[in-house]
Amino acid sequence: MKALLPGLYLLPVPIPYPLQTVNLYLLRGEGEVALLDTALGTRTARGTLELYLAELGLCFQDVKTVLLTHHHPDHYGLAGFFEGLGARVYLHEEELPRGHRFWLEPEAFEEASWQLFLEHGTPEEALSGIRETMAKTRERVHPPQSPIPLRDGEVLEVAGRRLRVVWTPGHADGHAAFLLEEEGVLLAGDALLERVSPNVGLWAYTRANPLKDFLASLRRLGELPARVAYAGHFGPILEVRKRAEELLLHHEERLQALLHHLERPQSAWELSLKLFPQELDPAGRRFAFAETLAHLEYLRHEGVLDREGPPYRYFRP
Ligand SMILES: [Zn+2]
Ligand SMILES: [Zn+2]
Repeated sequence: MKALLPGLYLLPVPIPYPLQTVNLYLLRGEGEVALLDTALGTRTARGTLELYLAELGLCFQDVKTVLLTHHHPDHYGLAGFFEGLGARVYLHEEELPRGHRFWLEPEAFEEASWQLFLEHGTPEEALSGIRETMAKTRERVHPPQSPIPLRDGEVLEVAGRRLRVVWTPGHADGHAAFLLEEEGVLLAGDALLERVSPNVGLWAYTRANPLKDFLASLRRLGELPARVAYAGHFGPILEVRKRAEELLLHHEERLQALLHHLERPQSAWELSLKLFPQELDPAGRRFAFAETLAHLEYLRHEGVLDREGPPYRYFRP
């Protein structure tokens, strides 16, 4: 645990995913304790969090406000647990009918998810184990029952600080970053990461053009009056605009690479194998597929590509 400002603490918590750690942030002031993101409901994560709170003389019940950046399990997993202990949980309104509903009613999207993969050329064997993986994740995710919707631009008064909600869709539809305007500090969630490019995927429950959303979010983040961004993983980002520009360039390069591979009509699955040739586990391959599909659909909406099917194959008109 590290104090970043008086009353603002960084709490890195281990997670059983490739990123290894999720960063939570604790705000304390004027008798209020708030947590930004919650980690996943594993014994290790919960125990780590409990120890951090104890260091500050606090327990789980003292957390009265939970701000969520988005619905991904490593950020949202314990939200329902804190809600059950009496905390108010805030989540951007765009997550409610999508990512949040995905956890509340997984069956609502199951059929559509399956169909999306198959329509885009995914072989059945690549989907084996998907139900088991999801069931295991669901055991570690405690969705909040009544999250309070956040709206872009609204200002929250939390633990003696003013936080402006910055809707930053792309990595998740209702991704929210929080700007401490007086301090010039951005709590960026997964919209900007120091070392990796945040995954931008098209799934059965997402908005139609997540890459377009993400590029707009990056431009917006680059304009914010933030001297530092503290993100959901890895270290702080000291040059916010520069990092946003690097990620914009990264996606420009990936779009060019995709076009380069389109010498003949191909499915999103085939193209994902070319765009991500490295060895990946089955879950990693599905993320690669969703990211490739997001790039293809971006190019299709821009009129650069067309598709035939289903099963869909993309081509240059
Ligand atoms: Zn995420
Ligand atoms: Zn994350």
